[in-house]
Amino acid sequence: MGEKSKALFEKARGLIPGGVNSPVRAGKAVGVVPPFIARAEGCYLWDADGKQYIDHVCSWGPMILGHGHPEVIKALEERISKGTSYGAPTELEVEMAETITKIVPSIEMVRMVNSGTEATMSAIRLARGYTGREKIIKFEGCYHGHADSLLVSAGSGVATLGIPDCPGVPAALAVHTISLPFNDPNAVVRAFETFDGEIAAVIVEPIPGNMGVVMPRKEFLAGLREMTSQNGALLIFDEVISGFRVAPGGAQEIYGITPDLTCLGKIIGGGLPVGAYGGREEIMCRMAPEGDVYQAGTLSGNPLAMAAGLATLKVLQRSDIYQKLEKKGEMLFCGLENEAKAAGLEVVVNRVGSMGSLFFTKGPVTDFTTVKASDVARFKRYYVNMLGQGIYLAPSAFETCFVSSAHHENDILKTIECASKAFKTL
Ligand SMILES: *Cc1c(COP(=O)(O)O)cnc(C)c1O
Repeated sequence: MGEKSKALFEKARGLIPGGVNSPVRAGKAVGVVPPFIARAEGCYLWDADGKQYIDHVCSWGPMILGHGHPEVIKALEERISKGTSYGAPTELEVEMAETITKIVPSIEMVRMVNSGTEATMSAIRLARGYTGREKIIKFEGCYHGHADSLLVSAGSGVATLGIPDCPGVPAALAVHTISLPFNDPNAVVRAFETFDGEIAAVIVEPIPGNMGVVMPRKEFLAGLREMTSQNGALLIFDEVISGFRVAPGGAQEIYGITPDLTCLGKIIGGGLPVGAYGGREEIMCRMAPEGDVYQAGTLSGNPLAMAAGLATLKVLQRSDIYQKLEKKGEMLFCGLENEAKAAGLEVVVNRVGSMGSLFFTKGPVTDFTTVKASDVARFKRYYVNMLGQGIYLAPSAFETCFVSSAHHENDILKTIECASKAFKTL
């Protein structure tokens, strides 16, 4: 790593826990000093030492149009001179709610918040308030932000009672979180039997991106819809990554499944801090001040975040952008798979549109257990090699790799070429 990044990381570690404001960024899992980013444009990043990278992290998802898209910048510039926060309702929020409800039909009403974590935390509270029940089901390897109830990933098996993974999460709360294997509808059937009448909601990343990309079986998602309906529980789709990424209407559009509540974030803020949760009007009406379930936010619906988000959604609604993203995603991930196989490596590539993951394993990769079977040491060598060649990937074997509309064919070919070199050394 360059001298400036090294010095900054050294200094940061004395001032910020681990030197970072979000853990994975620290590069601990891959044993590197993280490059400190000085600026970004299109699909490129430049670090503090002036080294250029092709960015396949895209801020962990939000930058679907690349960095500094002219329409997003223009929208921000126009807003900023009008003030940056009022703590009062604005027309922009109405426009945002109208845009989201139009594109995602299952969302009849929506509330804006400041992060994906806030969105899922609030959706869980609403589900508990609405159903008068306390237990929730989540799936191993699915990440829903860091709220207490959701930081639980108990061992696999039948309806295991949640054991807090993380000191500071009260056991009395974690006990209400049931963690089950992804893609296993039978485990969900058994949990509903064991905890009959106690389950408020099932929350799921319909296309998991936080253990790397895992494809949902259609019958798994359909099964969740059926079982929640039959048992009076709510189905919550956490589409913080997949929303507006895999299709305008997210995974629910692709798989044709209508959840009761949906959580959004990342892309809808266009690179500014944002989150949202929404769903059926009858459920959303339980939120204060209309109803009795409380949730609030000083900066919620912030005008700059709304402006950047709206500009992003406007561009995304245009013509053939998702077809182009699909082509670019196919080009990148097929290219990586071919080169890895040509180098004699066993790999599995999971991809939906412009998000995907390459796992160093025989596969198939269908849940957290099979994700964890991949060769982490090999990924680490791959990561370090790619970083050296100026390809910026997420610093973990269990994360997603993105393509934005700002990645051109040349950039994708360059990434494949660098990967080809890297694969030969692994
Ligand atoms: C990123 C993410 C979150 C958390 O969002 P933050 O804005 O980081 O709090 C929640 N759920 C999913 C699926 C995510 O990808």
